[in-house]
Amino acid sequence: MNRPAFNGPPSPEDFQRQLSEFMRQHLQGAGGQPSAEAQDAGVPASTGHQEKTDQFEFTYKPREVKDYLDRFVIKQDEAKKVLSVALCDHYHHVRLALDGKESSNYAKQNIILIGPTGVGKTFLIRSAADLIGVPFVKADATKFSETGYVGGDVEDMVRDLVRLADGDVTRAQYGIIYIDEIDKIAAAGNLTGRDVSGRGVQTNLLKLMEETEVPARSTNDIAGQIQAMMDFTQRGRKAPSTINTKHILFIVSGAFGGLEKIIHQRLREATIGFGAKERPLDTPEDVLGQSQTRDFIEFGFEPEFIGRLPVRVVCHSLKVDDLFLILKSSEGSIIRQYEQDFAAYGIEVLFADEGLRRIAERAADEQTGARGLMTMCERVFRNIKFELPSTKVKRFVVTRELVEDPAAELQRILADPKREERIVARQLVDEFARRFQENHGMKIRFTEAAADMLAAEALEKSQPVRDLCAKRFKDFQFGLKLIAQNSGQQEFVIDIDAVQAPDKVLSDWVVASCRK
Ligand code: ADP
Repeated sequence: MNRPAFNGPPSPEDFQRQLSEFMRQHLQGAGGQPSAEAQDAGVPASTGHQEKTDQFEFTYKPREVKDYLDRFVIKQDEAKKVLSVALCDHYHHVRLALDGKESSNYAKQNIILIGPTGVGKTFLIRSAADLIGVPFVKADATKFSETGYVGGDVEDMVRDLVRLADGDVTRAQYGIIYIDEIDKIAAAGNLTGRDVSGRGVQTNLLKLMEETEVPARSTNDIAGQIQAMMDFTQRGRKAPSTINTKHILFIVSGAFGGLEKIIHQRLREATIGFGAKERPLDTPEDVLGQSQTRDFIEFGFEPEFIGRLPVRVVCHSLKVDDLFLILKSSEGSIIRQYEQDFAAYGIEVLFADEGLRRIAERAADEQTGARGLMTMCERVFRNIKFELPSTKVKRFVVTRELVEDPAAELQRILADPKREERIVARQLVDEFARRFQENHGMKIRFTEAAADMLAAEALEKSQPVRDLCAKRFKDFQFGLKLIAQNSGQQEFVIDIDAVQAPDKVLSDWVVASCRK
C-alpha cells in the first residue's frame, strides 16, 4: 500500500475516511467477516433490529397505565390520567404505523407538563417508559440555549435514544424525549439576550417534533464512528444511517413562572363588558389548568412550536401529607433504599410513621418537592450510616426523636442496644402484617403473644425479623386467598399455635373453609 504524502493535518472528512479504511483492514480478520447477508446489497442492513421491532406490542388501556403509575407516583392524578391517555393513543398509533395501517391525518400527542421541581414529572415519564418498554431520554432546555451551535445538541437527544436502545435504531424511533425547563427558552420579556437563541432552539426542536431525519452518528463523535465500524466489521450489522423522529413522543415541562399572571389577565378581560362574574379559581394550579395556546404565545413561544404540543396538564406541588405517602407507600420510596443499605450490614431499620411524618415535615420546608426527602434522609442518616455498621446493633427504629436529633438518638441506641432490639423486633412483626395486607389484600393480625414469640425467636437466632416471618408464613398468601375464595373471610388472627406450626394451622383453616 502506498502511503499518501504528508500534506499537513488531514481534514475531518479525510481523517474519517482513513479511520474507516484502517478499521476495515484490521478488524475483518480478527472479528470475522461481515456476514454474507449484510454484504448482499439486496438485504436490508438492519435485519437484526427488525426482529426486535416485530416484538413491540402495545395492548394497554389508559386505566391500566394509570394503575401502574399509581404504584409509584403519589398524587398528580390528573397528570397520570392525561399522560395515560396520550401514551395509549400514541403507541396504538405507532403499532398501526408498524403494521403499515397508519392514518394520514394523525396528530402526535406531544405533552406539556406544567409544575414546580421535584413533584414527580420525570418519575412519571420514566415509570411510563419502563412499563411500555421504550427508551427514554431527559435533557434540560437550558443546555441548548447556552451552546453556540444549538442544532447539534438538540439532535444529540435523538442519538441518545439509540444508545439507550442498545443501538437499536428502530426502537429508538419510538422512544420518549423529555425536555425540562422549556420555559427558559421562551423569548418574550427576556432581556438577557437569550431570546434569540431561545427562538433558535424552538425552531430546532420544532423540526424534531414534526418529522426529520437525524444522522445516527454525529460527525464530531469519533467514538461513535469507531463503534459503527466495529459493529459492521465484526457482526456484519450496519445500523441505519439516520433516525426518523416522526414517532418519537416529546414531553416538555417547566414551572412557567409568570404564565399564571398572563392567564389571569386573559380570564379577567374575558369577563369585562359581558357582565359575567369572574370564575373563582382557588389555587395557582387551577389558573394554570386554564391555559390556552395564546397564553403560551404571549409567554414567548412560537405559535408553531406550541401548536405541536397539544396535550397540557398541571402537576401539583406536594404537601406534607403527600410527602409522607411518598415515603410510606410509593414503590419508588427512598426508604426502601435505606432498608437495603442497612441490610447490607445485617441491620434492620424500621421506619415508624411518626418518624416518616417528621421527615416529610422537614422536607416540606425545603420547598424542593420530594427532592427535599432525599436531602433530609441524607442529613438524618449520615452519621448513623457511618457508625452503626461497626457496632453490635442489628436493629433500630426511626422515630420522631431520631429525625429531630440523630446524634443524641444514636448515642441512646448505642448505650442500650438490647432494649432497642426488643422494641424494634416487635414492631417489625407488626410491619410484616401491614405489608402482607398491602401486597396480598388480606388482613393478618398477630396476637401479642405470637408477636412476642416471633420477635424473641429472631433475636435468639440473630435472624432478621422480616426474613423469619417471610419464611415462616410463605404459604399464607396462597392459603388465605383460597380461604377467602371459599368463605369470603378477609381477616385472620395468627396466634402462638400458628407461629409454632404454620403449615398445619393453615391447612386446618383451608379444610374448614371448604366445609363451609
Ligand atoms: P421533577 O421531574 O418534577 O423535578 P422528579 O420526578 O425528578 O421531579 O422527582 C425526584 C424524585 O422524587 C423521584 O425520583 C421520586 O423518587 C420522588 N418523587 C417526586 N415526586 C413524586 C411523587 N409524586 N410520587 C412519588 N415519588 C415522587
